Order: sequence, then C-alpha cells, then structure tokens
Amino acid sequence: MFADRYPHLSKVDPELAAMLHKQIRMESATLKMIPSENFAQFAVLEATGSILTNKYCEGYPRARYYEGNEIVDEIELLAIERAKSLFGAEHANVQPYSGSPANQAAYRALAEHGCKVMGMPVPAGGHLTHGWRVNFSGMDYVQVPYGPDPATGMLNYDQIREIARRERPRIIWVGATSYPRILDYQRFAEIAAEVEAYLVADIAHINGLIVAGVHPNPVPYCDVVTSTSHKMLRGPRAGFILSKIEDRYHHKYFPENKLNLAKRIDRSVFPGLQGGPHMNVIAAMAVAFKEAATEEFRAYGQQVQRNARRLAERLLERGYRLVSGGTDNHLIVLDFRDRPFTGKDVAEALARAGIICNFNMVPGDTRKPSVTSGVRLGTPALTSMGMREAEMDLIAQWIDEVCRHLDDLDETAGRIRGEIADLCAQFPIPGLRGDR
Ligand SMILES: *Cc1c(COP(=O)(O)O)cnc(C)c1O
Repeated sequence: MFADRYPHLSKVDPELAAMLHKQIRMESATLKMIPSENFAQFAVLEATGSILTNKYCEGYPRARYYEGNEIVDEIELLAIERAKSLFGAEHANVQPYSGSPANQAAYRALAEHGCKVMGMPVPAGGHLTHGWRVNFSGMDYVQVPYGPDPATGMLNYDQIREIARRERPRIIWVGATSYPRILDYQRFAEIAAEVEAYLVADIAHINGLIVAGVHPNPVPYCDVVTSTSHKMLRGPRAGFILSKIEDRYHHKYFPENKLNLAKRIDRSVFPGLQGGPHMNVIAAMAVAFKEAATEEFRAYGQQVQRNARRLAERLLERGYRLVSGGTDNHLIVLDFRDRPFTGKDVAEALARAGIICNFNMVPGDTRKPSVTSGVRLGTPALTSMGMREAEMDLIAQWIDEVCRHLDDLDETAGRIRGEIADLCAQFPIPGLRGDR
C-alpha cells in the first residue's frame, strides 16, 4: 500500500523496518480512539529525527556544562518563549523527558517526601503520578484521594473543599486521564488558597483544548502546570512545566531556600532528575508550539470537541450510558456497570472490528481493574485525520453493532473492519500522507 518509508532502516535492519511498515498498515486501516494518542506532523517528525539527536548540552541556555551550544541555546530559548506565550505563563521548562518526569520534578520542587498530596486515584480518572500507590508519587508522598461522585460522574467541589480543609495537603493536583468534563480551576484555586496548598494542574490530555479556547486555561490560577507535548498538542514525546516565578508560600514551606519557584523547578529537572536534555525533542516541541498557535490548530481543537459531543449524542440516543452523561472535552467514557459484559469485553471486541481504544474504570465501578465497567474513547487522532460529525455518526453505529454482537462477533467484526479500512483510506494519516 505504501512505498518504503524507511529506506536506510530497510537496508540496515530489515527485520525492524518490516515491523514499522506493519504498524503503518495497522494504523492506516483502524480508528485510533485512545484519547491520549494523536498523529505528529511531518515538521515535528523531521525535527525529532534531526542532527540534534547527537548533541549533549547539560544545563540551561547560557549556562551549559558543555561547549558548542550557541545554536542549541537559541533553540531551547525559542521553545521556552513559545511555550510561555502559548499559555500565558511566567516561566517554562521544556526539558522533561515526558509527562511523568515533569510531574516528578513538580513534586520535588514543592514537597518533601511524606507530604500529603491531594489527587485523583487511577480508578477515579487520575494519573499514576497523582499519588497512586504503585507509582513513586504514592510511595514517596501520601495520597489524599478525591474524585467524581459515583452517582453523577462529576466532581463535587464542596466535597473537595471539605477534604482539603480536613487533610491540609501540601499539593492539590487537578488533572485527569478520563474525566469528560470541564475542570473549574478557579474553584480549585480558592480551595488551595484556603488551605495554603500549592495548586498544580496537569493538562497532559487537554492542552490542545485550552489552546483552542474551548477549555479554561489553568495557568492564571496555578502555581505550577505540567503537560505532555505528544497528546493533543501533536508534538514529540516529551513533557514541559509552566510556573509562576515567585513562590507564594516561600516563607511557610521553604524559609531556608534561597531559590524562587521557577529556579526550584529548573533545579528539580536538572540536575535533580535528569542529565542531558533531548534537544531534538525540544526542537520538535518548539515546532509543535508554533503550530498550536495558529488559527488552523484552534479550528482543530474546536472540532475535536464537536466530534466528541457528536459521538456522545449518538451513543446516548442508542441507549448507552456515559460517565457524567456526556462530554465537554475530547473524550467519552461508556459506562457498562448495568450490563452483563465488561469494559474489557467491549474494548477487545472493538479492536477486532478496527476501533482501537482502552477499557477503563468508571466512578463507582465494582468490577476489577483488569476488566472494568468502562470504555474510554477519544477524538483527537481522528480529528487530525480530518474526520468530522458524519464520521462520528458511523462510528457510533459501529460501536453499537459490536456491543450487540459480543457473543457472535466474527461476522460483524469482520464486516466492520472492512468498512473502517475503506473509511480510513479516505483519511490518510498525517505524517505519512503522500510520498516524501
Ligand atoms: C499521559 C499523562 C501523563 C504522563 O505522561 P507520560 O508521557 O506517559 O509519562 C501525566 N498526566 C496525565 C494526566 C496524563 O494523561
């Protein structure tokens, strides 16, 4: 179907090249509906695969531990300036290797081991790094959990305030991997201020919606904001941290420390956690930030949200339950608590039909995390391919057919797989389109 996209690799390592071509074929004929996945554009991929892969430059612009970094300094400063301007932040660090290390750096800049941190447990829709027990964050810090109400699927801000007043955490994390609603950062900020906690927003999933103006921007309300760049932002696999320059609780929590918040974040990333920054990836991030500042990206973010809404409406019409009854953002979570089948049953069946997604706990889930009662579906990648409301209507119909044929799937899954391959042929995946 495609030309050899990796001619050098095919010569040096045909075994691996064949695997990559197989992955291309798979992704070109299926629907990528994992909400954290997307398609990076050519320009981003070129920067990622550039000569900067080879450069060592431990330190920060104009303060490196290696020579020959004049141009690299310009590149990192460009990425920093673009990140700050995109989100209206006072300070940006673009060196974290990914989202989890960015979060780890935020912790180390704000809290000593053993501090209480408020975050959503993984089953409630939080990320591993928000204090979950199998992660460093749950081992080094004490998680004070909060999460959506099992009945409504929505966050209850009065309840969050009550927990914060009772537990007095050092950090309150706001951010999620499977919460389909707007997050009220202003309300979180009031709660954090009341208990003198740092407020940290993790916008890994929703950064593109924020840039597009369809989700509020947490930067004005938060001490620190962490993010990935490879999800909705369509950048390279990496993380970045935005923050205020001054620490409003310096005298309370860090009276002996001479560094302001921005400097503590920087020190915490390097040399605290990491060695040399991945300059090829930082260059690609700069490209993604530039792209994200365009009108085209704004339109993209708005369409992501419209597509998710349309998919939600069509599934609700067909009698499906959705966590929180719908969506404000880029994802929906199907709720199968009242059905005889599990989230895992549906996710596996959908994959056989060509819809790639994941099973997920829902608020109030009584099934085990290894099977769950939910399925999480997102629209960022499909929207990058150019799909719109009409395609969402088809997808809702396919999901419904799969759910109704779980016990006799073969024929249905085979037919839908073909229909999806035909649809995908009309929407070639960005970063692969045409011949280079
Ligand atoms: C994806 C994600 C992360 C972590 O990103 P990685 O790059 O996978 O380490 C952190 N927080 C949230 C909310 C995420 O969705």
